[in-house]
Amino acid sequence: MQTSTGKCDCGEVEFAFTGDPINSSFCYCYSCQLRTNSDKWFGVWVPKENFKFTQGEPSTFTRIGDSGNRVEYTFCGNCGVTLAGFPELTDFYSVAAMAIENGSELSPGMLMYTAHAPEWATFPEGIPKFDLLPPSLGDNS
Ligand SMILES: [Zn+2]
Ligand SMILES: [Zn+2]
Repeated sequence: MQTSTGKCDCGEVEFAFTGDPINSSFCYCYSCQLRTNSDKWFGVWVPKENFKFTQGEPSTFTRIGDSGNRVEYTFCGNCGVTLAGFPELTDFYSVAAMAIENGSELSPGMLMYTAHAPEWATFPEGIPKFDLLPPSLGDNS
């Protein structure tokens, strides 16, 4: 099976996953904007059992999403790069696409929380677009 690898900016923390991601998304929620200092997080969804940290000890930060559920982020305590998010209601990691080797060749499979995007954000055409969460992740209202 194919193995993909990735790492943070300083190289202290490395990860790997096997197989193909189940999906990928641009998330424009406020938390992702803050985390990236940008309009969105580009997350590649990898089943939990296929993903592991292979070097270093990532730090963690848990926040309560506006759906009331917990999301745990893992990041490098040295350079600060967030490598993955793990929403407790799911069974996948949202892995930082740009931390994956050749990650810039990946494209998003959906757009979410577009209602929270800054006014200047532009959205790629032809991709499923959700104001908040897609139905598969639960109604957020
Ligand atoms: Zn680092
Ligand atoms: Zn988000």
